[in-house]
Amino acid sequence: MSDCIEDLLGFLSEATTPFHAVTALSQRLQAAGFVAVDTVDRAGLVPGRGYFLTRNDSSLIAFRVGEQPVEAGLRLVGAHTDSPNLSVKPNPIKQRHGVVQLAVDVYGGALLNPWFDRDLSLAGRVNFVDEHGQLCSRLIDFRRPVAVVPSLAIHLDREANNGRSVNPQKDILPVLLTVENDGDSGRHFSFPALLAAQVRAQYPEYEEVRVLDFEMSLYDSQAPAVIGLEGDFIASARLDNLLSCHAGLRSLLAADANQWSLLVCNDHEEVGSASAVGAQGPMLTEVLDSLVDSDAQGRQLRANARLLSVDNAHAVHPNFSDRHDDNHGPLLNGGPVIKINRNQRYATSGKGAALLRLLAERADVPVQTFVVRTDLGCGSTIGPITAAETGIETIDLGVPTLAMHSVRELAGSRDPNYLEALLTGFYNRLA
Ligand code: ZN
Repeated sequence: MSDCIEDLLGFLSEATTPFHAVTALSQRLQAAGFVAVDTVDRAGLVPGRGYFLTRNDSSLIAFRVGEQPVEAGLRLVGAHTDSPNLSVKPNPIKQRHGVVQLAVDVYGGALLNPWFDRDLSLAGRVNFVDEHGQLCSRLIDFRRPVAVVPSLAIHLDREANNGRSVNPQKDILPVLLTVENDGDSGRHFSFPALLAAQVRAQYPEYEEVRVLDFEMSLYDSQAPAVIGLEGDFIASARLDNLLSCHAGLRSLLAADANQWSLLVCNDHEEVGSASAVGAQGPMLTEVLDSLVDSDAQGRQLRANARLLSVDNAHAVHPNFSDRHDDNHGPLLNGGPVIKINRNQRYATSGKGAALLRLLAERADVPVQTFVVRTDLGCGSTIGPITAAETGIETIDLGVPTLAMHSVRELAGSRDPNYLEALLTGFYNRLA
């Protein structure tokens, strides 16, 4: 297994929520000598050094300071930290029929059927008051299967294989444990108390933890793995889009330290990007503005910058190949996919695609091309949103994936290496 794939599997396993993804990215940046800052102070930036900042613990921007003026040509890579999941409701506990269940919301466009019969764990951010009356916020992750959503047996639904639909309000509540009695006479299970105990287990420095609020979600505890007869596949949750965050990070770390390069990883792509820390928020433009002295320089920066918006693409599915246009069916392990949509659901222009094809030739990386079937609606990415917010020429691309938005997605095990080589070549101005 290549170093890139081994590192990717470790990252996917650590990054169980966008908060944990940003922590994992931050740790790797810090280990590589990047300096954590709250805001960018242009005067204090040292050429050859790297800096990074985070927002809401769930979005991150990291950049290297080049020797040339930044407006001469900044190279940016963008990706998103969030993935569809089951998110725990504020008052989640349902105690009935001898079990304690959690009420959940669906975050983003999740495929719901794959969530049944999985060994689920819980992770997220807990906001609490400590023994000194201080408001605190800490990330927790149970790191073990604590819940499951059991399927309804076929004997109780003979039509189950004829397109069973899932009602997200009532069909997918996970069970946590069994209890002897329901209702008032039984043991009352407190979700905040469960979270408080987990905070204290992970952060023993807190003597008292009174939970005020939380952002917790469920994830599949099965570890990411390389699978297939000859190891051709990677199976994992959150490949969309942590695979791209990971490739962006490794490329930034490998990039020429004397050139301007930037990585932006935004939360909230799966729900439209319109948030304080999403791609439609001010985070990236604020950083870009703080890298220049004047509006004129800012306009020059944007005119000369290029952004690769990296997000997984749909590989052609062998059982459903008619869902792709005949001439545009990307294959697993066939290399990164340039995504084109003339209606601007993807930002790629012909000029941008040409730049990328030349870059791929020089980096010795195969690339493929995707357009959606003319009679199907097209998904989107942070690409068009970031392009619209910043005016920067943007190219949408990503590795081919199957089972996108499932709790366990499938990618090719050679594509992450290709993507990393391509992004590194982009940062290093191979084209
Ligand atoms: Zn995505």
